[in-house]
Amino acid sequence: MIIVKTREEIELMREAALVVSKTLGEIAKAVKPGVTTLELDKLAETCIRDQGAIPGFLGLYDFPNTLCMSPNEQVVHGIPNNTPLVEGDIISIDCGAIKDGFYGDHAYTFAVGEIAPETKKLLQVTKESLYVGIREFKVNNRVGDVGFAIQKYCEDHGYGVVRELVGHGLGRKMHEDPEMPNYGKRGRGKKFIEGMVVAIEPMINLGTQRIKQHRDGWTITTLDKKPSAHFEHDVAIVDGKPELLSTFAYIYDALGITSDEELEFRQQPLVL
Ligand code: MG
Ligand code: MG
Repeated sequence: MIIVKTREEIELMREAALVVSKTLGEIAKAVKPGVTTLELDKLAETCIRDQGAIPGFLGLYDFPNTLCMSPNEQVVHGIPNNTPLVEGDIISIDCGAIKDGFYGDHAYTFAVGEIAPETKKLLQVTKESLYVGIREFKVNNRVGDVGFAIQKYCEDHGYGVVRELVGHGLGRKMHEDPEMPNYGKRGRGKKFIEGMVVAIEPMINLGTQRIKQHRDGWTITTLDKKPSAHFEHDVAIVDGKPELLSTFAYIYDALGITSDEELEFRQQPLVL
């Protein structure tokens, strides 16, 4: 059952999404060779609690930490540890927070120092595919339209689109209906309606789409051990159109990047 949100609820969800956005901005400043994913995890927990929110992943389905930290060939759900990041790594960081009863949930894949050109391209295309998908999240379109758009964009670049893991509705629960696969057929699946809020999150592999689940019950890696990227935004339908609730602006501010990629998905200017 799809739980639509009122305008007031969507504004509360924007606050939750901004807690995560700010937290990822703080993390962006700290992602460097030598830092451990566990150190970044502690930083995120402090940052979330300082904003009057609660880590959204900690304890959810018994997950042990605040952040999912998935380096290199890990796709998602990696557990923070004491291994330092090294130059040339990529690290997919997924962050969730609960504020005023609503979840924020989004993710960004960071480069650690200089990375290989083919990996840089994977990050760029995966992030572009996120916006290609968001553009299809509007009234009267269907779940399959978002999935089709993401799949086509990524497969046209020769990448593998993970099938087993999907985006999702978001609200007072972390995972609400509908499931939002990153693959699909035009015109298929549930129809989008005013007030829906979803997390759209392409998980895209440089090589094969096939993945492997590890014995810890969490970590998922690519079967061919080639890198995987993950970008995620929280999006509502307002006045029939996609309205971004999360932002990468804090990350870009920290990294000195200028970008207008989010502008078309905002009906009001973002106030940082
Ligand atoms: Mg997430
Ligand atoms: Mg998610």
